[in-house]
Amino acid sequence: MMSLPPGSTLGVFGSGQLGRMFAFAARRMGYRVHVFSSDRDTPAGQVADVEVVADYDDATAIASFCRLVQAVTFEFENVPATVAQVAEQFVPVRPSGSVLHLCQHRLREKTALREAGLPVPAFAAVRSLAELRVAAESIGCPAVLKTATSGYDGKGQIKITGDSDLNAVWNELRTDEAIYEAFVSFEKELSVIGVRGVDGSMAFYGPIENEHRDHILDISRCPAHVPESVSRNAVELARAVLEALDVVGVLCVELFMKPDGGLLINELAPRPHNSGHLTIEAFATSQFEQQVRAVAGLPVGSAEQLRPTAMANLLGEAWFPHEPRWDRALDVPGVALHLYGKAEAKPGRKMGHLTATADDIDEAVRRVVAARDALQPQ
Ligand code: AMP
Repeated sequence: MMSLPPGSTLGVFGSGQLGRMFAFAARRMGYRVHVFSSDRDTPAGQVADVEVVADYDDATAIASFCRLVQAVTFEFENVPATVAQVAEQFVPVRPSGSVLHLCQHRLREKTALREAGLPVPAFAAVRSLAELRVAAESIGCPAVLKTATSGYDGKGQIKITGDSDLNAVWNELRTDEAIYEAFVSFEKELSVIGVRGVDGSMAFYGPIENEHRDHILDISRCPAHVPESVSRNAVELARAVLEALDVVGVLCVELFMKPDGGLLINELAPRPHNSGHLTIEAFATSQFEQQVRAVAGLPVGSAEQLRPTAMANLLGEAWFPHEPRWDRALDVPGVALHLYGKAEAKPGRKMGHLTATADDIDEAVRRVVAARDALQPQ
């Protein structure tokens, strides 16, 4: 198929910060952007040419949206399956509905990875208390029980130890389908972001090293402090995932690195990822531009790293007790500010991020942490 030239209109389902940064990249390249949103004045809607406000179960609204665009993509994967099914009748959907369908469901995702011969933690499907007891017996403890759908940032999951009351755990999770996973005592959490074009060509970022706080990404750094062999293996795993799933678009592979350097896949995100925000400053082509290129059927861009770079998330907490001291943060050399245009700062809400570049990665991390700390001087 021919590529869509600048001037064409790209549609995005979802209206958060990932859609916003996609829209910035697309508009810079001369594309028009329509956002399908469940709300008004959203992070992505503010940057798009058009913000359509409708529900994801409104097939008529989805069809009308798709009639006015030449291709569509997603900025989050938890949309009803009907969205892609309807959209596919009108325009190319990148990534495809089948990739989305797989990544929406932890059991489907891990089963597909295991069948493709890719390394994942030991797991079992759990649909009842009886199955939970069987899984605990066969896989053992410690473990993590996660809802099969709609989990993110550590929500919908419970750690299980030898002392856990399985009956109480099953009632607490309030689901009829879950995945029981062996707990991995990882040394680091890594991610690799891959992009694959319509022609099958690929590019990879990372591995990126990620630190979480309260289950939410806190700091990312690239390059990661890992042996060269781990780096190579991480990228090869990501390559295998993109090929196995026949992805067209951007996909993030979240990994656990064990103390012996072995890697296990934790999760896939079929879109740009929070850990890849640093690609805007750090690489020749950002993850968002890659999404634009893939959706438009253009060649994949260069993933050459320009500078060691670190990213710190800004959660709503940074707005308390007083308005952040932007002047102080931006006084730190090499720092860039990204805010998502969200009206109200709430604890735990991702409001923006800071990126810092430097000659070496430890200095980049020091800078980004110093800039964030400067927002609320003690
Ligand atoms: P997830 O929503 O699956 O990405 O999980 C959120 C976080 O919980 C991960 O980033 C890990 O820090 C932790 N976690 C999830 N699964 C496991 C596991 N099997 N073993 C150890 N930690 C886990």
